[in-house]
Amino acid sequence: MTSDSVPTSPLDSLLRFDAVDLVGRAGTHRHVSATVPAPAREAGGLAMQVPEGEDIAVDVELEAVVEGIYVHGTVVAHLEGECSRCLDPVEQDVDARLDELFMIPEKVKAEEQEDAVLLVEDAVTLGPLVRDLLAMEAEERPLCREDCPGLCAQCGARMEDDPEHHHDVIDDRFAALKGLFDDEPKES
Ligand SMILES: [Zn+2]
Ligand SMILES: [Zn+2]
Repeated sequence: MTSDSVPTSPLDSLLRFDAVDLVGRAGTHRHVSATVPAPAREAGGLAMQVPEGEDIAVDVELEAVVEGIYVHGTVVAHLEGECSRCLDPVEQDVDARLDELFMIPEKVKAEEQEDAVLLVEDAVTLGPLVRDLLAMEAEERPLCREDCPGLCAQCGARMEDDPEHHHDVIDDRFAALKGLFDDEPKES
């Protein structure tokens, strides 16, 4: 996993934890928990996102191992979005596992650097991981309920409010055209 191509976000600085006291001291560990405000909604982003300013709670153990710092714990957040069929509000609670080994750069072979998650100045940067995790957990096509009937394709009315709702397929203009064609002599 690489985070090079991920644009920076306010989360990156908020969820950066110094581990200088642990690096190189395998067997030592420290608990870290932080609740940070969600950044502004990304335009054209995911269907389900944490509303701006709402809590993203990160609760992890930083564990020193020979290769670096192993980070494991949970990310808890509340996502909001719209039903992909009827546009009603949809909510989703996320309680996801975070598991990552931040490698000491010197311990990673040059050809493996690109795929490794590295300690940066002896700190773990959880922002990109948390964003990836929330993106992975987020419903791609949220539904207010499994069998949401959605909106009428003709007029946009909510089918749930009016299940019998329908339109006559042929409107006046079309009927007039139809008559016109009917009058034309058949070619054969
Ligand atoms: Zn719906
Ligand atoms: Zn309609």
